[in-house]
Order: sequence, then structure tokens, then C-alpha cells
Amino acid sequence: VINCKTILIKDEDSGYNKNLFCIPKHYEEDIERVFIPHGLILDRTERLARDIMQDMGSHHIVALCVLKGGYKFFADLLDHIKALNQNGDKSVPVTVDFVKIKSYCNDSPTEKISIVGEELSALNGKNVLVVEDIIETGRTMKALLSKLKDYEPKMIKVVSLLIKMTNRSPGYRPDYIGFEIPDKFVVGYALDYNEYFRDLNVSTYECCVLVPTGECK
Ligand code: 5GP
Repeated sequence: VINCKTILIKDEDSGYNKNLFCIPKHYEEDIERVFIPHGLILDRTERLARDIMQDMGSHHIVALCVLKGGYKFFADLLDHIKALNQNGDKSVPVTVDFVKIKSYCNDSPTEKISIVGEELSALNGKNVLVVEDIIETGRTMKALLSKLKDYEPKMIKVVSLLIKMTNRSPGYRPDYIGFEIPDKFVVGYALDYNEYFRDLNVSTYECCVLVPTGECK
């Protein structure tokens, strides 16, 4: 059963005045508004962990972090999953793995998607939970899923903290979604703009002209 429950943030929701939050000095000029406060991300993540464990929690889980943008969400989600394992009536072994996907140059999609992974044979026969930061067109996730299927996992579920409402999307939806957001470029909470803004606790609207635009590697 696909679980499409999510918090919907509408186009007209403008977020919060950044001056009401603690923003690192080096980003004060670059960001416009606070989009999703850190505390709300954590509260939503706690519930996602519960939903995921209810659905998946009977057989060894391999949690697969999609780097780099997924690392904060991954760490916080795993903390909540561990808490459920510690305090619940049942518990399930969880191991972790990491893949790195390069699909973006500046803020527009590039044609090339490359998946750099460790040896993923440990996924064979396991329940795999793919943990992603944001899904826009779904191209990245579809490419990753087709590669993962080669390892014949028992089950694959996908959780994404954010999904964008965009008409560029062919309609891919992950199994679990934290927030559905307007078609704007967001940074913070490990989501970057040319490697900047990962060190920001809040997800924000990005409006910078000051951040140097690096070359896409
Ligand atoms: P898709 O293949 O679904 O179009 O793109 C997914 C990838 O694009 C994400 O993993 C992420 O790296 C990047 N991406 C898409 N939208 C945003 C955004 O608003 N902010 C940031 N920082 N990355 C984004």
C-alpha cells in the first residue's frame, strides 16, 4: 500500500521572517525566508519513522542514505527508528549503507545522473529503505531504483523528506513523504547550493546572488 500522507505547503505559504530565527552570519545576506523550521522537520521525521517501522519492521532493514543531501534527514530518521527499536515491543536489526548521486549543476537539472556506490551486495534479500532529501522530477530516484533492483532486495521502500509540486515531474511519488512543497529551490538541513548551505539547520527559500557559483564536477 502506497502511503501518500504528507504535510502540504502551498504556493502562497511564504514561510517565516528569517530574523526571528538563528541564522549563521555567513548566510544572513543570502537567504530570504525560513521555509520549514528545524523543529517541524524533526517532529515530522519522528512520525515518518513510526509509519516506516509499522510497515517494514519485521525483517532486517538496510537503510540506504542518498548522499550528500540526505545525510541530515538520514541521521535524524535513524535516531527515531533506533528509539522505536529500544522502546517498542518488537525490534528489528537496522544496518546502513550509502550511495552518492550527482545529478545537479547550480540550480538546474543536468542531463547526466551518475551513481557512485559502495559494494551493494548486502542489499540482497533485505528490506531496503532508501532515504532521500528531495524529489523533483523523480529521475534520480528512478535511476537509483533500477540499479538497486539488480541486487534483488526483498523489498524496497523510499522515503523523501521533500517532494516538489512541479509539472516537470512524470508523477513519481515515494512511499513516504515528509513535506510536499512549491516549485522553489530550497537549501539548508544538508540540502545545498553548490555545496553551500548544508551547514544551516533550517530549510529556506534560496534567493542568493552572492554565493559563488562553482563548476559542476
Ligand atoms: P530529480 O531527479 O527528482 O529531478 O532531482 C532530485 C535531486 O535534485 C535531489 O536529490 C537534489 O539533489 C536535487 N534537487 C532538486 N530540487 C532541489 C532543491 O530545491 N534544492 C536542492 N538543494 N537540491 C534540489
